[in-house]
Amino acid sequence: MVIKNKKRSASKMKTAVIILAGGHGTRCGFPRPKQFLLLGGRPLIDYSVEKFLSLHPGIIIAVLVNNYQKYYRPHPGISLIAPGGKERQASVLNGLSSCPAGTELVIIHDAARPFFPLAGVRAGLQLLANDKYDGLALASPAVDSLVEVNDGEIVSFPDRKKIYQTQTPQLFQYPAMLKACQKLCGQKSFAFTDDLSVAYAAGLRCSLVEGSQMNFKITTRFDWELAGQLLKTGF
Ligand code: C5P
Repeated sequence: MVIKNKKRSASKMKTAVIILAGGHGTRCGFPRPKQFLLLGGRPLIDYSVEKFLSLHPGIIIAVLVNNYQKYYRPHPGISLIAPGGKERQASVLNGLSSCPAGTELVIIHDAARPFFPLAGVRAGLQLLANDKYDGLALASPAVDSLVEVNDGEIVSFPDRKKIYQTQTPQLFQYPAMLKACQKLCGQKSFAFTDDLSVAYAAGLRCSLVEGSQMNFKITTRFDWELAGQLLKTGF
């Protein structure tokens, strides 16, 4: 009897990358969406595009604000542009719906995180290729003490050892994630702030892979300054 080896190499699977840049990023206080601002002389989004190109994905889809031409000439490594939605989850759904037929794995990433570790992405893709999980997020263990507050009153002190902070990239089995997002992404009753929580709510098999504390999301002006300094040190 021949026992089929179900293990596959992730590099042989049809993989799409979705880079989200459909928000207006007003929290930074800049006059234009931060993902298109020049950091170290290059648009912020291009750091992610270039890093993903080294994975040789099948396609890189950028989800861009509708008037992106005012701010940004797309990097030649971007194969397809999908329109941004009103909410992040609508942008995600637009990206997922734009993936070509036959896509097996999908990576969803925020353009505002230029310092993500490729090692975590590679490890996650291989776990998906082995069909161990449907969804994975890069994540780091919480380092601060945590407190849960409700209406100004302390409710609990969660055990820090059990808490992780999720980041992007997040990686998924494409057909399962498309279905999950089609079912849940438009529902106002769910306030999803990332994609792993959508997959989990849809009952998919979810877990975490090692991210990095350096993989912070550029949200405030302080983050922007910090990112600029890190680049100067050659990070
Ligand atoms: O707002 P937040 O910081 O959570 O945004 C994370 C990422 O999602 C950013 O890269 C942003 O451009 C993207 N986004 C989007 N469409 C929206 C809102 C946010 O693509 N409507």
